[in-house]
Amino acid sequence: MAYQALYRVWRSQRFDDIVGQKAVTQTLKNAIVSHKTSHAYLFTGPRGTGKTSAAKIFAKAINCPNSRDGEPCNECEMCRSITAGTQEDVIEIDAASNNGVEEIRFIRDRANYAPTKATYKVYIIDEVHMLSTGAFNALLKTLEEPKESVIFILATTEPYKIPATIISRTQRFDFKRINASDIIEHLEFILNESNISYEEQALGVIARSAEGGMRDALSILDQAISFSEGTITLNDAMQVTGSLTYEMMDDYLSACVEQNVAQALNALEQMLAAGKEARRFLEDLLQYCRDLLMYQQAPQLVTEKTSQLTTTFVSLSQEIKAEQLFQMIKILSETQNEIRFTNSATIYLEVATVKLAQKQPATSLSPLSQGEPAESQAVEKLQQEVSTLKKELKELKKNHGTASNSQPVPQAVHKKQASSYRVPTERVYQVLKEATRQDLNQVKEVWDDLLMSLSVTQRAMLKASEPVAAGPKSMVIAFDYEIVCQRATNDDELQLAIHNNLSRMIHDYAPDTVYITRESWPELRKNYLIQSKDNGQMNSFVPETDEEEIELIPQEPETTETVVTKAEELFGTDSVTIIDD
Ligand SMILES: [Zn+2]
Repeated sequence: MAYQALYRVWRSQRFDDIVGQKAVTQTLKNAIVSHKTSHAYLFTGPRGTGKTSAAKIFAKAINCPNSRDGEPCNECEMCRSITAGTQEDVIEIDAASNNGVEEIRFIRDRANYAPTKATYKVYIIDEVHMLSTGAFNALLKTLEEPKESVIFILATTEPYKIPATIISRTQRFDFKRINASDIIEHLEFILNESNISYEEQALGVIARSAEGGMRDALSILDQAISFSEGTITLNDAMQVTGSLTYEMMDDYLSACVEQNVAQALNALEQMLAAGKEARRFLEDLLQYCRDLLMYQQAPQLVTEKTSQLTTTFVSLSQEIKAEQLFQMIKILSETQNEIRFTNSATIYLEVATVKLAQKQPATSLSPLSQGEPAESQAVEKLQQEVSTLKKELKELKKNHGTASNSQPVPQAVHKKQASSYRVPTERVYQVLKEATRQDLNQVKEVWDDLLMSLSVTQRAMLKASEPVAAGPKSMVIAFDYEIVCQRATNDDELQLAIHNNLSRMIHDYAPDTVYITRESWPELRKNYLIQSKDNGQMNSFVPETDEEEIELIPQEPETTETVVTKAEELFGTDSVTIIDD
Protein backbone atom coordinates (compact mmCIF):
# COMPACT_ATOMS: atom_id res chain seq x y z
CA MET A 1 0.00 0.00 0.00
CA ALA A 2 1.16 3.50 -0.73
CA TYR A 3 2.51 5.59 2.11
CA GLN A 4 -0.20 7.32 4.11
CA ALA A 5 0.55 10.30 6.26
CA LEU A 6 -0.52 10.03 9.91
CA TYR A 7 -2.88 12.98 9.59
CA ARG A 8 -4.74 11.06 6.88
CA VAL A 9 -4.82 7.74 8.74
CA TRP A 10 -5.98 9.36 11.98
CA ARG A 11 -8.40 11.87 10.50
CA SER A 12 -11.40 12.22 12.84
CA GLN A 13 -14.49 10.32 11.71
CA ARG A 14 -16.81 11.40 14.52
CA PHE A 15 -17.45 14.78 16.18
CA ASP A 16 -16.28 13.32 19.48
CA ASP A 17 -12.93 12.41 17.90
CA ILE A 18 -12.15 16.03 17.05
CA VAL A 19 -9.70 17.25 19.65
CA GLY A 20 -10.07 20.58 21.41
CA GLN A 21 -13.25 21.89 19.71
CA LYS A 22 -15.90 20.69 22.14
CA ALA A 23 -18.05 23.83 21.94
CA VAL A 24 -18.25 23.70 18.14
CA THR A 25 -18.84 19.96 17.81
CA GLN A 26 -21.47 19.86 20.56
CA THR A 27 -23.42 22.69 18.93
CA LEU A 28 -23.30 20.98 15.54
CA LYS A 29 -24.46 17.68 17.01
CA ASN A 30 -27.35 19.39 18.77
CA ALA A 31 -28.38 21.09 15.51
CA ILE A 32 -28.44 17.73 13.73
CA VAL A 33 -30.36 15.97 16.49
CA SER A 34 -32.99 18.72 16.64
CA HIS A 35 -33.13 19.11 12.83
CA LYS A 36 -32.22 22.77 13.11
CA THR A 37 -29.39 22.89 10.62
CA SER A 38 -28.56 26.00 8.63
CA HIS A 39 -28.22 26.39 4.85
CA ALA A 40 -24.74 27.77 5.11
CA TYR A 41 -21.94 27.47 7.64
CA LEU A 42 -18.66 29.27 7.96
CA PHE A 43 -15.92 27.34 9.76
CA THR A 44 -12.99 29.60 10.66
CA GLY A 45 -9.77 28.92 12.53
CA PRO A 46 -6.06 28.22 12.20
CA ARG A 47 -4.87 25.47 9.88
CA GLY A 48 -5.10 21.91 11.08
CA THR A 49 -7.68 22.54 13.79
CA GLY A 50 -10.38 20.25 12.36
CA LYS A 51 -12.48 22.46 10.08
CA THR A 52 -12.67 20.21 7.04
CA SER A 53 -12.87 17.08 9.18
CA ALA A 54 -15.87 18.59 10.97
CA ALA A 55 -17.42 19.52 7.62
CA LYS A 56 -17.16 15.96 6.35
CA ILE A 57 -18.48 14.49 9.60
CA PHE A 58 -21.38 16.94 9.39
CA ALA A 59 -22.13 15.83 5.81
CA LYS A 60 -22.16 12.22 6.97
CA ALA A 61 -24.20 12.78 10.10
CA ILE A 62 -27.07 14.57 8.32
CA ASN A 63 -27.17 11.95 5.56
CA CYS A 64 -26.54 8.79 7.60
CA PRO A 65 -29.69 6.69 8.07
CA ASN A 66 -28.25 5.29 11.33
CA SER A 67 -27.14 8.59 12.79
CA ARG A 68 -27.22 8.62 16.60
CA ASP A 69 -26.81 11.62 18.89
CA GLY A 70 -25.77 13.66 15.88
CA GLU A 71 -22.86 11.32 15.05
CA PRO A 72 -22.56 9.33 11.81
CA CYS A 73 -22.37 5.52 11.97
CA ASN A 74 -19.39 5.45 9.60
CA GLU A 75 -20.40 1.98 8.45
CA CYS A 76 -23.34 2.39 6.10
CA GLU A 77 -22.85 2.89 2.38
CA MET A 78 -23.62 6.60 2.62
CA CYS A 79 -21.03 7.22 5.36
CA ARG A 80 -18.42 5.12 3.60
CA SER A 81 -18.86 6.84 0.26
CA ILE A 82 -18.54 10.28 1.90
CA THR A 83 -15.41 9.20 3.78
CA ALA A 84 -13.95 7.89 0.53
CA GLY A 85 -14.87 11.08 -1.30
CA THR A 86 -16.93 9.20 -3.89
CA GLN A 87 -20.39 10.41 -2.87
CA GLU A 88 -21.63 12.61 -5.70
CA ASP A 89 -23.94 14.60 -3.45
CA VAL A 90 -21.13 15.68 -1.17
CA ILE A 91 -18.84 17.91 -3.16
CA GLU A 92 -15.50 19.09 -1.82
CA ILE A 93 -13.93 22.07 -3.53
CA ASP A 94 -10.53 23.55 -2.77
CA ALA A 95 -10.93 27.23 -3.55
CA ALA A 96 -7.15 27.59 -3.56
CA SER A 97 -7.11 25.74 -6.88
CA ASN A 98 -10.64 26.63 -8.11
CA ASN A 99 -10.98 30.33 -7.57
CA GLY A 100 -12.77 30.96 -10.84
CA VAL A 101 -16.21 32.35 -11.41
CA GLU A 102 -17.01 29.46 -13.76
CA GLU A 103 -16.64 26.84 -11.04
CA ILE A 104 -18.98 28.68 -8.71
CA ARG A 105 -21.53 29.25 -11.53
CA PHE A 106 -21.32 25.55 -12.20
CA ILE A 107 -21.98 24.85 -8.52
CA ARG A 108 -24.84 27.32 -8.62
CA ASP A 109 -26.46 25.55 -11.56
CA ARG A 110 -25.94 22.13 -10.06
CA ALA A 111 -27.20 23.23 -6.65
CA ASN A 112 -30.62 23.70 -8.27
CA TYR A 113 -30.98 19.99 -8.72
CA ALA A 114 -32.07 17.90 -5.77
CA PRO A 115 -29.57 15.40 -4.37
CA THR A 116 -29.77 12.03 -6.10
CA LYS A 117 -28.75 9.64 -3.35
CA ALA A 118 -28.34 11.67 -0.18
CA THR A 119 -30.96 13.58 1.76
CA TYR A 120 -28.84 16.71 1.66
CA LYS A 121 -26.46 17.87 -1.00
CA VAL A 122 -23.44 19.32 0.80
CA TYR A 123 -20.87 21.63 -0.78
CA ILE A 124 -17.67 21.96 1.23
CA ILE A 125 -15.58 24.86 -0.01
CA ASP A 126 -12.15 24.86 1.61
CA GLU A 127 -9.95 27.97 1.77
CA VAL A 128 -12.98 29.95 0.64
CA HIS A 129 -11.14 33.28 1.09
CA MET A 130 -9.19 32.41 -2.06
CA LEU A 131 -12.23 32.89 -4.30
CA SER A 132 -12.09 35.80 -6.70
CA THR A 133 -14.51 38.71 -6.34
CA GLY A 134 -16.54 37.43 -9.28
CA ALA A 135 -16.76 34.00 -7.71
CA PHE A 136 -17.85 35.50 -4.38
CA ASN A 137 -20.65 37.34 -6.20
CA ALA A 138 -21.78 34.12 -7.84
CA LEU A 139 -21.64 32.34 -4.49
CA LEU A 140 -23.62 35.13 -2.86
CA LYS A 141 -26.42 34.68 -5.42
CA THR A 142 -26.54 31.01 -4.47
CA LEU A 143 -26.65 31.72 -0.75
CA GLU A 144 -29.39 34.32 -1.29
CA GLU A 145 -31.73 31.69 -2.71
CA PRO A 146 -31.25 28.78 -0.33
CA LYS A 147 -32.61 25.41 -1.43
CA GLU A 148 -34.27 23.11 1.07
CA SER A 149 -31.87 20.22 0.55
CA VAL A 150 -28.59 22.00 -0.15
CA ILE A 151 -26.05 22.95 2.52
CA PHE A 152 -22.89 24.99 2.05
CA ILE A 153 -19.97 24.67 4.43
CA LEU A 154 -17.31 27.29 3.85
CA ALA A 155 -13.97 26.80 5.61
CA THR A 156 -11.24 29.39 5.95
CA THR A 157 -8.13 30.33 7.87
CA GLU A 158 -8.64 33.97 6.98
CA PRO A 159 -12.24 35.03 7.62
CA TYR A 160 -11.44 38.76 7.33
CA LYS A 161 -10.91 38.23 3.60
CA ILE A 162 -14.50 37.13 3.13
CA PRO A 163 -17.10 39.75 2.12
CA ALA A 164 -19.46 40.73 4.91
CA THR A 165 -22.40 39.96 2.64
CA ILE A 166 -21.34 36.31 2.58
CA ILE A 167 -20.55 36.12 6.29
CA SER A 168 -23.96 37.53 7.21
CA ARG A 169 -25.65 34.66 5.35
CA THR A 170 -23.77 31.95 7.20
CA GLN A 171 -23.72 30.53 10.69
CA ARG A 172 -20.19 31.05 11.92
CA PHE A 173 -18.15 28.64 14.03
CA ASP A 174 -14.69 29.55 15.26
CA PHE A 175 -12.26 26.67 15.67
CA LYS A 176 -9.66 27.36 18.34
CA ARG A 177 -5.98 26.60 18.44
CA ILE A 178 -5.66 23.28 20.22
CA ASN A 179 -3.78 23.56 23.50
CA ALA A 180 -0.53 21.67 23.93
CA SER A 181 -1.77 19.22 26.54
CA ASP A 182 -4.68 18.15 24.32
CA ILE A 183 -2.27 17.61 21.45
CA ILE A 184 0.12 15.64 23.66
CA GLU A 185 -2.73 13.43 24.85
CA HIS A 186 -3.77 12.68 21.28
CA LEU A 187 -0.22 11.93 20.17
CA GLU A 188 0.15 9.57 23.15
CA PHE A 189 -3.02 7.81 22.10
CA ILE A 190 -1.84 7.33 18.52
CA LEU A 191 1.62 6.13 19.55
CA ASN A 192 0.19 3.68 22.05
CA GLU A 193 -2.23 2.36 19.45
CA SER A 194 0.65 1.99 16.99
CA ASN A 195 2.96 0.38 19.57
CA ILE A 196 5.65 3.01 19.16
CA SER A 197 7.69 3.96 22.22
CA TYR A 198 8.57 7.55 23.01
CA GLU A 199 9.99 9.91 25.59
CA GLU A 200 7.29 12.11 27.06
CA GLN A 201 9.33 15.29 26.63
CA ALA A 202 9.54 14.63 22.90
CA LEU A 203 5.77 15.02 22.63
CA GLY A 204 5.93 18.33 24.49
CA VAL A 205 8.39 19.67 21.95
CA ILE A 206 6.27 18.45 19.04
CA ALA A 207 3.06 19.86 20.50
CA ARG A 208 4.61 23.26 21.11
CA SER A 209 6.09 23.39 17.65
CA ALA A 210 2.71 22.62 16.06
CA GLU A 211 1.32 25.88 17.47
CA GLY A 212 -2.18 24.59 18.05
CA GLY A 213 -2.63 22.66 14.80
CA MET A 214 -3.23 18.93 15.07
CA ARG A 215 -2.35 18.30 11.44
CA ASP A 216 1.05 19.94 11.90
CA ALA A 217 1.59 17.97 15.09
CA LEU A 218 0.88 14.71 13.27
CA SER A 219 3.16 15.65 10.39
CA ILE A 220 5.99 16.41 12.77
CA LEU A 221 5.30 13.17 14.60
CA ASP A 222 5.41 11.37 11.26
CA GLN A 223 8.83 12.77 10.63
CA ALA A 224 10.04 12.04 14.14
CA ILE A 225 8.96 8.41 13.73
CA SER A 226 10.97 7.99 10.56
CA PHE A 227 13.89 9.89 12.04
CA SER A 228 14.05 7.93 15.28
CA GLU A 229 15.55 4.54 15.83
CA GLY A 230 12.86 2.64 17.68
CA THR A 231 12.04 5.16 20.38
CA ILE A 232 11.13 8.78 19.69
CA THR A 233 13.53 10.70 21.87
CA LEU A 234 13.56 14.31 22.97
CA ASN A 235 16.55 14.78 20.73
CA ASP A 236 14.70 13.40 17.70
CA ALA A 237 11.88 15.86 18.33
CA MET A 238 14.36 18.71 18.69
CA GLN A 239 15.98 17.75 15.42
CA VAL A 240 12.82 17.53 13.37
CA THR A 241 11.26 20.68 14.77
CA GLY A 242 14.46 22.69 14.54
CA SER A 243 14.11 23.50 18.23
CA LEU A 244 17.12 24.57 20.18
CA THR A 245 18.75 22.01 22.35
CA TYR A 246 18.50 22.93 25.98
CA GLU A 247 22.27 23.01 26.34
CA MET A 248 22.48 25.75 23.72
CA MET A 249 19.83 27.73 25.50
CA ASP A 250 21.49 27.10 28.86
CA ASP A 251 24.73 28.55 27.50
CA TYR A 252 23.08 31.54 25.94
CA LEU A 253 20.99 32.50 28.94
CA SER A 254 23.82 31.87 31.40
CA ALA A 255 25.94 34.33 29.43
CA CYS A 256 23.09 36.87 29.50
CA VAL A 257 22.60 36.46 33.25
CA GLU A 258 26.33 36.78 33.86
CA GLN A 259 26.20 39.97 31.79
CA ASN A 260 28.82 38.63 29.46
CA VAL A 261 27.73 40.36 26.26
CA ALA A 262 30.54 39.00 24.13
CA GLN A 263 29.84 35.42 25.17
CA ALA A 264 26.11 35.87 24.68
CA LEU A 265 26.62 37.26 21.17
CA ASN A 266 28.99 34.41 20.49
CA ALA A 267 26.42 31.84 21.64
CA LEU A 268 23.83 33.55 19.45
CA GLU A 269 26.10 33.42 16.43
CA GLN A 270 26.77 29.73 17.00
CA MET A 271 23.10 28.92 17.17
CA LEU A 272 22.30 30.85 14.01
CA ALA A 273 25.28 29.27 12.27
CA ALA A 274 23.90 25.88 13.29
CA GLY A 275 20.88 26.75 11.17
CA LYS A 276 18.47 27.80 13.88
CA GLU A 277 15.83 30.05 12.48
CA ALA A 278 15.51 33.42 14.24
CA ARG A 279 11.78 33.23 14.92
CA ARG A 280 12.02 29.68 16.19
CA PHE A 281 14.92 30.72 18.39
CA LEU A 282 12.91 33.53 19.97
CA GLU A 283 9.92 31.27 20.50
CA ASP A 284 12.07 28.64 22.23
CA LEU A 285 13.83 31.25 24.31
CA LEU A 286 10.56 32.80 25.44
CA GLN A 287 9.27 29.40 26.40
CA TYR A 288 12.46 28.74 28.35
CA CYS A 289 12.11 32.03 30.25
CA ARG A 290 8.46 31.33 31.01
CA ASP A 291 9.43 27.89 32.26
CA LEU A 292 12.08 29.47 34.48
CA LEU A 293 9.57 31.91 35.89
CA MET A 294 7.04 29.16 36.46
CA TYR A 295 9.62 26.96 38.11
CA GLN A 296 10.51 29.77 40.51
CA GLN A 297 6.91 30.49 41.43
CA ALA A 298 5.38 27.03 41.34
CA PRO A 299 7.94 24.27 40.77
CA GLN A 300 5.30 21.56 40.98
CA LEU A 301 3.70 22.88 37.77
CA VAL A 302 6.86 22.46 35.73
CA THR A 303 7.21 18.78 35.02
CA GLU A 304 9.75 16.73 33.16
CA LYS A 305 7.02 16.21 30.59
CA THR A 306 6.82 19.79 29.42
CA SER A 307 10.31 21.07 30.18
CA GLN A 308 13.83 19.83 30.46
CA LEU A 309 15.02 20.37 34.02
CA THR A 310 18.75 20.53 33.35
CA THR A 311 21.21 21.41 36.12
CA THR A 312 21.75 24.79 34.52
CA PHE A 313 18.01 25.36 34.33
CA VAL A 314 17.61 24.67 38.04
CA SER A 315 20.56 26.82 39.06
CA LEU A 316 19.47 29.64 36.74
CA SER A 317 16.05 29.61 38.33
CA GLN A 318 17.70 30.19 41.70
CA GLU A 319 20.03 32.87 40.36
CA ILE A 320 17.71 35.09 38.36
CA LYS A 321 15.35 37.45 40.09
CA ALA A 322 11.75 37.40 38.98
CA GLU A 323 11.94 41.07 37.92
CA GLN A 324 14.87 40.26 35.72
CA LEU A 325 12.91 37.46 34.07
CA PHE A 326 9.94 39.75 33.50
CA GLN A 327 12.28 42.23 31.88
CA MET A 328 13.78 39.51 29.68
CA ILE A 329 10.40 38.22 28.61
CA LYS A 330 9.39 41.78 27.77
CA ILE A 331 12.49 42.29 25.62
CA LEU A 332 11.99 38.97 23.87
CA SER A 333 8.29 39.60 23.17
CA GLU A 334 9.05 43.01 21.75
CA THR A 335 11.73 41.53 19.54
CA GLN A 336 9.31 38.85 18.43
CA ASN A 337 6.91 41.55 17.27
CA GLU A 338 9.65 43.46 15.53
CA ILE A 339 10.97 40.57 13.49
CA ARG A 340 7.57 39.28 12.47
CA PHE A 341 7.71 40.86 9.03
CA THR A 342 11.37 41.53 8.49
CA ASN A 343 13.99 39.52 6.68
CA SER A 344 16.71 41.04 8.82
CA ALA A 345 15.97 39.16 11.99
CA THR A 346 19.62 38.70 12.93
CA ILE A 347 20.27 42.33 13.74
CA TYR A 348 17.17 42.53 15.94
CA LEU A 349 18.38 39.45 17.77
CA GLU A 350 21.79 40.98 18.30
CA VAL A 351 20.25 44.10 19.77
CA ALA A 352 18.01 41.99 21.99
CA THR A 353 21.02 39.98 23.15
CA VAL A 354 22.92 43.11 24.12
CA LYS A 355 19.85 44.35 25.99
CA LEU A 356 19.42 41.01 27.77
CA ALA A 357 23.03 40.91 28.87
CA GLN A 358 23.12 44.47 30.16
CA LYS A 359 23.27 45.06 33.90
CA GLN A 360 19.96 46.73 34.61
CA PRO A 361 18.15 47.38 31.39
CA ALA A 362 16.41 50.42 32.86
CA THR A 363 19.49 52.13 34.30
CA SER A 364 22.62 53.31 32.55
CA LEU A 365 25.97 51.57 32.63
CA SER A 366 27.59 54.37 34.63
CA PRO A 367 28.15 52.50 37.91
CA LEU A 368 30.42 50.07 36.12
CA SER A 369 32.54 52.75 34.52
CA GLN A 370 33.86 53.66 37.97
CA GLY A 371 35.79 50.39 38.03
CA GLU A 372 39.08 49.29 36.50
CA PRO A 373 40.30 51.11 33.38
CA ALA A 374 40.11 47.91 31.39
CA GLU A 375 36.57 47.42 32.53
CA SER A 376 35.50 50.92 31.62
CA GLN A 377 37.14 50.50 28.25
CA ALA A 378 35.12 47.37 27.70
CA VAL A 379 31.99 49.18 28.73
CA GLU A 380 32.74 52.01 26.38
CA LYS A 381 33.26 49.55 23.57
CA LEU A 382 29.96 47.92 24.39
CA GLN A 383 28.15 51.22 24.42
CA GLN A 384 29.63 51.92 21.03
CA GLU A 385 28.49 48.55 19.81
CA VAL A 386 25.00 49.19 21.06
CA SER A 387 24.78 52.58 19.44
CA THR A 388 26.11 51.20 16.15
CA LEU A 389 23.55 48.42 16.26
CA LYS A 390 20.82 50.88 17.11
CA LYS A 391 21.86 53.08 14.22
CA GLU A 392 21.84 50.15 11.84
CA LEU A 393 18.45 49.16 13.14
CA LYS A 394 17.09 52.66 12.65
CA GLU A 395 18.51 52.69 9.14
CA LEU A 396 16.86 49.35 8.48
CA LYS A 397 13.49 50.49 9.74
CA LYS A 398 13.73 53.59 7.59
CA ASN A 399 14.62 51.65 4.48
CA HIS A 400 11.91 49.12 5.04
CA GLY A 401 9.19 51.60 5.77
CA THR A 402 6.34 49.62 7.20
CA ALA A 403 7.14 46.34 8.85
CA SER A 404 5.32 44.28 6.27
CA ASN A 405 7.88 45.06 3.62
CA SER A 406 9.52 41.91 2.39
CA GLN A 407 12.34 43.29 0.32
CA PRO A 408 15.56 41.31 0.22
CA VAL A 409 18.06 41.86 3.03
CA PRO A 410 20.29 44.88 2.47
CA GLN A 411 23.87 43.85 1.77
CA ALA A 412 25.24 45.81 4.73
CA VAL A 413 23.55 43.55 7.22
CA HIS A 414 24.51 40.19 5.84
CA LYS A 415 28.02 40.73 4.67
CA LYS A 416 28.93 37.13 5.39
CA GLN A 417 26.32 35.75 3.05
CA ALA A 418 27.30 37.59 -0.09
CA SER A 419 25.46 36.11 -3.01
CA SER A 420 27.53 33.71 -5.06
CA TYR A 421 24.92 31.46 -6.60
CA ARG A 422 26.20 29.62 -9.62
CA VAL A 423 23.97 27.59 -11.88
CA PRO A 424 25.04 23.92 -11.50
CA THR A 425 24.71 23.34 -15.23
CA GLU A 426 26.58 20.03 -15.45
CA ARG A 427 24.65 18.50 -12.58
CA VAL A 428 21.36 19.57 -14.11
CA TYR A 429 22.36 17.97 -17.42
CA GLN A 430 23.21 14.78 -15.54
CA VAL A 431 19.70 14.67 -14.15
CA LEU A 432 18.10 15.48 -17.51
CA LYS A 433 20.02 12.66 -19.17
CA GLU A 434 18.08 10.13 -17.13
CA ALA A 435 14.93 12.09 -16.36
CA THR A 436 11.60 10.36 -16.86
CA ARG A 437 8.06 11.65 -16.66
CA GLN A 438 7.17 8.81 -14.34
CA ASP A 439 9.81 9.79 -11.80
CA LEU A 440 8.73 13.42 -11.91
CA ASN A 441 5.07 12.57 -11.55
CA GLN A 442 5.86 10.32 -8.64
CA VAL A 443 7.70 13.09 -6.84
CA LYS A 444 5.00 15.63 -7.61
CA GLU A 445 2.38 13.32 -6.21
CA VAL A 446 3.97 13.18 -2.78
CA TRP A 447 5.36 16.74 -2.83
CA ASP A 448 2.74 18.16 -0.45
CA ASP A 449 3.19 15.31 1.96
CA LEU A 450 6.94 15.77 1.72
CA LEU A 451 6.60 19.43 2.67
CA MET A 452 4.40 18.52 5.59
CA SER A 453 6.99 16.05 6.81
CA LEU A 454 9.83 18.57 6.92
CA SER A 455 10.72 20.83 9.82
CA VAL A 456 9.03 24.22 9.87
CA THR A 457 12.20 25.92 8.63
CA GLN A 458 12.82 23.44 5.87
CA ARG A 459 9.20 23.63 4.81
CA ALA A 460 9.44 27.40 4.63
CA MET A 461 12.46 27.07 2.36
CA LEU A 462 10.80 24.61 0.01
CA LYS A 463 7.44 26.39 -0.06
CA ALA A 464 8.42 28.57 -2.99
CA SER A 465 9.97 25.74 -4.95
CA GLU A 466 8.91 22.99 -7.29
CA PRO A 467 10.41 19.76 -8.62
CA VAL A 468 10.97 20.31 -12.36
CA ALA A 469 12.84 17.17 -13.39
CA ALA A 470 13.51 13.79 -11.86
CA GLY A 471 15.36 10.65 -12.80
CA PRO A 472 15.99 7.40 -10.96
CA LYS A 473 18.93 8.77 -9.00
CA SER A 474 18.54 12.51 -8.92
CA MET A 475 16.13 15.39 -9.28
CA VAL A 476 16.09 19.12 -9.96
CA ILE A 477 14.21 21.53 -7.72
CA ALA A 478 13.56 25.07 -8.91
CA PHE A 479 13.26 27.94 -6.43
CA ASP A 480 11.44 31.23 -6.87
CA TYR A 481 14.16 33.13 -5.02
CA GLU A 482 17.87 32.92 -5.55
CA ILE A 483 18.68 33.57 -1.91
CA VAL A 484 16.57 30.60 -0.80
CA CYS A 485 18.05 28.45 -3.55
CA GLN A 486 21.49 29.24 -2.29
CA ARG A 487 20.61 28.52 1.30
CA ALA A 488 19.14 25.21 0.25
CA THR A 489 22.27 24.34 -1.70
CA ASN A 490 24.40 24.74 1.42
CA ASP A 491 21.96 22.93 3.68
CA ASP A 492 23.03 19.30 4.12
CA GLU A 493 20.29 18.63 6.64
CA LEU A 494 17.68 19.63 4.08
CA GLN A 495 19.17 17.28 1.53
CA LEU A 496 19.15 14.49 4.11
CA ALA A 497 15.57 15.20 5.13
CA ILE A 498 14.39 15.10 1.50
CA HIS A 499 16.35 11.88 1.02
CA ASN A 500 14.88 10.17 4.06
CA ASN A 501 11.32 11.27 3.59
CA LEU A 502 11.12 10.59 -0.13
CA SER A 503 12.53 7.10 0.33
CA ARG A 504 9.81 6.50 2.87
CA MET A 505 7.04 7.84 0.63
CA ILE A 506 8.24 6.35 -2.63
CA HIS A 507 9.70 2.92 -2.12
CA ASP A 508 13.50 3.08 -2.05
CA TYR A 509 13.60 6.34 -3.98
CA ALA A 510 16.30 8.55 -2.50
CA PRO A 511 17.43 10.95 -5.21
CA ASP A 512 20.25 13.46 -4.94
CA THR A 513 18.88 16.95 -5.25
CA VAL A 514 20.12 19.72 -7.48
CA TYR A 515 18.83 23.20 -6.72
CA ILE A 516 18.36 25.88 -9.33
CA THR A 517 16.43 29.12 -9.64
CA ARG A 518 13.19 29.02 -11.55
CA GLU A 519 14.54 31.80 -13.68
CA SER A 520 17.41 29.65 -14.95
CA TRP A 521 15.28 26.61 -15.77
CA PRO A 522 14.00 27.44 -19.30
CA GLU A 523 17.49 28.34 -20.45
CA LEU A 524 19.03 25.21 -18.91
CA ARG A 525 16.42 23.01 -20.52
CA LYS A 526 16.81 24.64 -23.90
CA ASN A 527 20.60 24.42 -23.83
CA TYR A 528 20.45 20.81 -22.78
CA LEU A 529 18.21 20.00 -25.72
CA ILE A 530 20.47 21.78 -28.17
CA GLN A 531 23.59 20.19 -26.74
CA SER A 532 22.21 16.67 -26.64
CA LYS A 533 20.84 17.10 -30.15
CA ASP A 534 24.35 17.93 -31.28
CA ASN A 535 25.63 14.81 -29.58
CA GLY A 536 22.80 12.85 -31.14
CA GLN A 537 21.61 11.55 -27.76
CA MET A 538 18.39 13.28 -26.89
CA ASN A 539 16.49 12.01 -23.89
CA SER A 540 12.99 11.01 -24.87
CA PHE A 541 11.65 12.96 -21.93
CA VAL A 542 12.69 16.39 -20.83
CA PRO A 543 10.00 17.97 -18.70
CA GLU A 544 8.39 21.12 -19.96
CA THR A 545 7.78 24.31 -18.08
CA ASP A 546 4.27 25.61 -18.00
CA GLU A 547 4.53 29.15 -19.20
CA GLU A 548 7.82 29.45 -20.94
CA GLU A 549 8.05 28.88 -24.65
CA ILE A 550 10.95 27.08 -26.10
CA GLU A 551 12.65 28.34 -29.17
CA LEU A 552 14.83 25.90 -30.97
CA ILE A 553 17.04 27.32 -33.63
CA PRO A 554 18.21 24.55 -35.91
CA GLN A 555 21.89 24.57 -36.86
CA GLU A 556 21.54 22.94 -40.26
CA PRO A 557 18.55 23.28 -42.58
CA GLU A 558 18.20 19.53 -43.20
CA THR A 559 17.67 18.79 -39.52
CA THR A 560 14.95 21.40 -39.03
CA GLU A 561 12.13 19.03 -39.50
CA THR A 562 13.42 16.37 -37.14
CA VAL A 563 14.25 18.87 -34.42
CA VAL A 564 10.84 20.47 -34.65
CA THR A 565 9.13 17.10 -34.60
CA LYS A 566 11.22 16.09 -31.63
CA ALA A 567 10.51 19.32 -29.82
CA GLU A 568 6.81 18.96 -30.55
CA GLU A 569 6.90 15.46 -29.19
CA LEU A 570 8.52 16.75 -26.05
CA PHE A 571 6.59 19.91 -25.40
CA GLY A 572 3.45 19.66 -27.49
CA THR A 573 2.70 21.78 -30.53
CA ASP A 574 1.41 24.72 -28.49
CA SER A 575 4.68 25.53 -26.85
CA VAL A 576 7.02 25.22 -29.79
CA THR A 577 7.79 28.33 -31.76
CA ILE A 578 9.80 27.88 -34.90
CA ILE A 579 11.99 30.79 -35.75
CA ASP A 580 13.11 30.94 -39.35
CA ASP A 581 16.15 33.00 -40.07
ZN1 LIG B 1 -23.90 5.91 8.33
